[in-house]
Amino acid sequence: MLCAYIHVPFCKKICDYCDFRVIPSLSRLYAEYTDLVCKQIVCFEEIHPGFFTSVKTLYLGGGTPSELPPPYLKKIFECLASVGLKVSSLQEISMEFNPESTNEESVAAALELGVNRISLGLQTFDAELLQRIGRSHSVETGLRALDLLTSTPHLQVNADLMFDLPGQTVQGFLNDVDRLSDYPLEHISFYGLNVSPRSRLGHKVSAGELSINEDLYEPMYLGGVEILERKVFGRYEVSNFARQGFESVHNQNYWNRGEYVGIGPGAHSFLGNQRFYAPEIYPRWRDYVLAGCPQESLSVDCLNREDKLMEYIWLSLRQSKGMSFKGLSEFGIEDAEDKAASCISKWVCKEFVIKKNGVLQLKGRGWIFMDDIVTDLANAYSNLE
Ligand code: SF4
Repeated sequence: MLCAYIHVPFCKKICDYCDFRVIPSLSRLYAEYTDLVCKQIVCFEEIHPGFFTSVKTLYLGGGTPSELPPPYLKKIFECLASVGLKVSSLQEISMEFNPESTNEESVAAALELGVNRISLGLQTFDAELLQRIGRSHSVETGLRALDLLTSTPHLQVNADLMFDLPGQTVQGFLNDVDRLSDYPLEHISFYGLNVSPRSRLGHKVSAGELSINEDLYEPMYLGGVEILERKVFGRYEVSNFARQGFESVHNQNYWNRGEYVGIGPGAHSFLGNQRFYAPEIYPRWRDYVLAGCPQESLSVDCLNREDKLMEYIWLSLRQSKGMSFKGLSEFGIEDAEDKAASCISKWVCKEFVIKKNGVLQLKGRGWIFMDDIVTDLANAYSNLE
């Protein structure tokens, strides 16, 4: 399946934990950014003719796409249509919103463009924690956005939470999950905080001003899963939970190693055997686009057999459907179940994985030890042809 991603790098305020390449939302940049995105779309279509005609999902992520005013978004959609993307026949059009820019006008404008899935970055309902991680919205703004989105007809809604925040208690996080899952939304994601040493929060942690209790990761994650499963949100990926039939089609394409194009500064693409991306820093991306998107300015990873094997194991196991042993024949590995038997039996004994009908799935605490299990499997298979 082919998918398209548009990266909108603007954020109203840079959160203290942010490690992405984002820039403050400056209205003087909107027109320039929009023109550059359109130019990059046209360049990509010239190099890969017919790509956009076959696209099945579109995702506007960031940064904060809802910071870009509707007329600019409309221009991007018009450009996509001009290169063959048929908005009306897409399976899913997702857009990320932050609470501050969620209002009746911005939601109506998104719906008019064809957006049918909105993802809201809430992170927590705890005012003190929101402040501690440097989010710009208040609890009240978050709740207002959630009320508006969940009462909008013909819209699928996802909301994101974070856990293992500095000073957060297990009960505090579980209360967030419980409260959020009482809303009539279709999808919930939650992510453990990953403190980048480069971020403002990372500096505070290094200076001893804030601390993260990593021991709380497991009870928070497993407790959150238990609440969501009780409330009929099925886990289909390590951090993603949906009511049946509302799983993200776009994100599943990533995990199934489907192809996609990413447009915008630093947005990643995957085509053929290559993962590649344009310059991440805005002025460099601007120069790249103005120069006609020269292929030699892209950062390119050509995947060898080991890379693809690792991706297959890691991206399969992080999904609830698990890893099919048969799929490993793509990498020249036959009898894959037997060949990793000793490594797998260790995890089966601990009840961290389950083997069923030629598929290996994570189970219970196995989700916490996912990285170790993936590494073990990759080592077991990496020297086999
Ligand atoms: S909203 Fe997201 S992308 Fe923007 S600054 Fe915060 S963490 Fe970074």
